[in-house]
Amino acid sequence: MLCVLSLGAAAFGARAAAPAAAPAAAAAPEALAAQLRDAALAGHDIAYEWVSELTSRFGPRPAGSVSERQAAEWAAARFKELGFENVHIESFPITAWVRGTESAQITSPVTQPLVAASLGESPPTPAAGLEGEVVTFASFDALKAAPADSLGGKIALVARRMVRTQDGAGYSAAVDARIDGPGEAARRGAIAFLVRSVGTDSHRLAHTGTTRYVDGRVPVPAFALSNPDADQIERLAALGQKVRVRLYSSASYVPDAHSQNVIADVRGRARPQEVVLLGAHLDSWDQGTGAVDDGTGMAIITAAATLIRDAPQRPRRTVRVVLFGSEEPAQPVAPYGAFGGHAYAGNHKAELASHVLAGESDSGADRVYRLGLPQAALQGEFARTALRVLGPIGVLAAPRAPEEAGTDIGPSVEAGVPAFVLYQDASGYFDIHHTADDTLDKIDQEQLDQNVAAWAALVWLAADSDVDFRTHGAPPPQP
Ligand SMILES: [Zn+2]
Repeated sequence: MLCVLSLGAAAFGARAAAPAAAPAAAAAPEALAAQLRDAALAGHDIAYEWVSELTSRFGPRPAGSVSERQAAEWAAARFKELGFENVHIESFPITAWVRGTESAQITSPVTQPLVAASLGESPPTPAAGLEGEVVTFASFDALKAAPADSLGGKIALVARRMVRTQDGAGYSAAVDARIDGPGEAARRGAIAFLVRSVGTDSHRLAHTGTTRYVDGRVPVPAFALSNPDADQIERLAALGQKVRVRLYSSASYVPDAHSQNVIADVRGRARPQEVVLLGAHLDSWDQGTGAVDDGTGMAIITAAATLIRDAPQRPRRTVRVVLFGSEEPAQPVAPYGAFGGHAYAGNHKAELASHVLAGESDSGADRVYRLGLPQAALQGEFARTALRVLGPIGVLAAPRAPEEAGTDIGPSVEAGVPAFVLYQDASGYFDIHHTADDTLDKIDQEQLDQNVAAWAALVWLAADSDVDFRTHGAPPPQP
């Protein structure tokens, strides 16, 4: 660990230059992509060093915080040292949310402590806390079916369990209760909202996460309960007990805060105005150190772009790395979320027509198992070449184009930029996602390197091609 931390920029550069330096300048794109893949697998260390130093130096990086800004400045300096071009920071205003002290306990039938965490943007409780009877709903639909005013003075709990899946679909299926639950509960008169953690572990850790503003505010104090604590309340209710809970939070808002995106380019050798955009987010939730969400995403795309930069031949198009700020929290005013992604799409509106492809890494640190390409490129020579290079590291074709490619690149994709997804195995990701347990020790370096290999090879192929991913998957003319 110490030696990792003591590695400075020179070591980054030296390591980056070594393994990829073998091929001749005239290597065919496929051969060079394979060499980048193999260089990453050979234990390049760039990615692990990045996430290790980032999480050790700055710890948690909540949107709008000093640590988020300092981490952005550190990342920009690192990009310059690594030899990236056009390195700069683009700031934008946000309302920052700050967790205060908080507590939760069952007060009746007998006092018991609960493990809970305020959801992001949740307002504080009154200074004396609040207390009410818990009404438990087995599903979010059941809460939404409850009559108006049926929760007056009470605390709503949605206790639905998240399902573990490889592709993360269990999260998408469960997260609506966390996001829209406070609004639905408040509409029925509830004084507070509880949600069973949207996570797959059985540890006594609460999974925080964003929730939605309604008319400029999150309407009631809202907390996630750890899975075992949600079980406890469900069992008490099943025993016919009336459960009362006491909640306290001193959360607060900083309305004039700033967040920022960090931008760094590997300039293309022939068509530099055409951009392949790689995104990940620099902010994190506040209780862990944001190692797998999304320190590893940043590390993966930075390491892949560094390998491409140090290859014997630059790709024809520009590879742009964007570390987005303020991905996690919602905001009280439009566009309501993904502020970094919206700020980028707004600042670079005129350039988006020449953004040829975009991808985002934000599903943890485990291996990539599937490649999703834009509809126009699903068939054809580009896909066949990419899969020949990625097949040996266990990446197969997704049967259809991605329906969603990521939060940060979302606004750019909505503006017409085609997107790819390198799907990661998310089976274990939601055990630690948005908890205090999101720390560096959870990262398997071999799996991290496999991600870098997949990103470096695929991004090289896309950036060196002249495939129009918007309209067709025609192969680039071979040199
Ligand atoms: Zn994330």
